[in-house]
Amino acid sequence: MRVVVIGAGVAGLALARALMGGGHEVEVFEEAPEPRTAGGSVTLWPGSTAILRELGVDAAAAGRRLETLESWSARGRMLSAADLTDAERAYGHPTVHVARGELVALLAEGVPVTYGAAAEDVDPGGARARLAGGRTVRGDVLVGADGRRSAVRHAMLGGDPARLSGWATWQGFTTEPTPLISAGRAVLISGGGGLCGLIPAGGGRLLWWFDVRTAPGRPLWGDDPDPVGKLRRLFGDLPDPVPRILATMTAPEFFPHHTWKIPDVWGHGPTTLAGDSAHTMPPTLAQGANQALEDAWLLARSVTGDLRAYERARARMVRRSAVLAGIEITNRHEPLARLVPKRVATGLCTRWLRWASGYLLTAS
Ligand SMILES: Cc1cc2nc3c(=O)[nH]c(=O)nc-3n(C[C@H](O)[C@H](O)[C@H](O)COP(=O)(O)OP(=O)(O)OC[C@H]3O[C@@H](n4cnc5c(N)ncnc54)[C@H](O)[C@@H]3O)c2cc1C
Repeated sequence: MRVVVIGAGVAGLALARALMGGGHEVEVFEEAPEPRTAGGSVTLWPGSTAILRELGVDAAAAGRRLETLESWSARGRMLSAADLTDAERAYGHPTVHVARGELVALLAEGVPVTYGAAAEDVDPGGARARLAGGRTVRGDVLVGADGRRSAVRHAMLGGDPARLSGWATWQGFTTEPTPLISAGRAVLISGGGGLCGLIPAGGGRLLWWFDVRTAPGRPLWGDDPDPVGKLRRLFGDLPDPVPRILATMTAPEFFPHHTWKIPDVWGHGPTTLAGDSAHTMPPTLAQGANQALEDAWLLARSVTGDLRAYERARARMVRRSAVLAGIEITNRHEPLARLVPKRVATGLCTRWLRWASGYLLTAS
């Protein structure tokens, strides 16, 4: 079967690899002139590192294996921690944090991608897309893996159903010396009316991010003339290494959070969607890349069958994460963390990871 994939992000590239492994003919078309390796880093839970291993990608070698997920108070006291090695033992695969760009580069190896080829006009019924420059491509199946502003989804469902959630992230990497860079610890610190996160991404880098409130429906902070000054005022009192990160910060990356009510069916005829084009959600539970990989895994198995059944199965699973992520518990994190002892936090986390992963539910 010939499959045309629009978009060379995590969803499109993982799908292409999985389809090629199944003996299908695949071509990927990406609007950017070269691989889009921008962005922060992503946490890949055990279901995703298992899927990546099936695709020949060793996520742990590219990023940093995580052992604990810790919640700290604004004064630097640990409130709670989940032991991520419990899930690793239960499911046989680690939790890994990796730079998005490195994940994209690894997935792209050996995949036929045409860059500088934006899909401009899509005919879902004919599995056909006209690319910038006039060339038309056609498959037996066409998959829109073209992200939140998906042209393929637009051709089937119209409009942009995503809404700003009222929260946004400012993020970047630091190489400031801190023990957290080499430890397998993900740290969430409540404070400043929002949340600060610190996670090692491998290669001597620590991802830092600040989740801040914006006006609902408006990406206010994206236009702020002095976001660094504002972040320093809000988060300057948090414990080390936060003040050092704020002191050396120059141009943080802005990432507004979107929510979307996921439909039961998101395709038409031989055309379907995978990844953010089908289900954008806030990064609160670190699920965007994970659910994209889950889509790719299931779609590669369903591509010769009923595409609507794939969509319904995935919609049911993705909603579990999207609904919770959409609640944005960001500034209500501390009271919850205080209530949950480590043993309970570990058990909840291990069970949640299976509940959110169609791959793990099928495999175990
Ligand atoms: C540059 C970038 C930075 C990101 N940074 C973060 C981050 O810091 N934190 C976070 O949680 N998530 C981030 N994301 C989103 C995250 O990558 C996704 O939630 C997740 O990996 C699912 O990926 P996806 O492949 O569905 O979508 P995406 O990663 O958005 O990939 C979609 C791809 O489709 C391409 N595309 C779009 N329209 C067309 C078209 N008409 N024709 C052809 N190609 C098209 C895009 O250029 C892109 O390469 C980022 C995405 C991008 C593109």
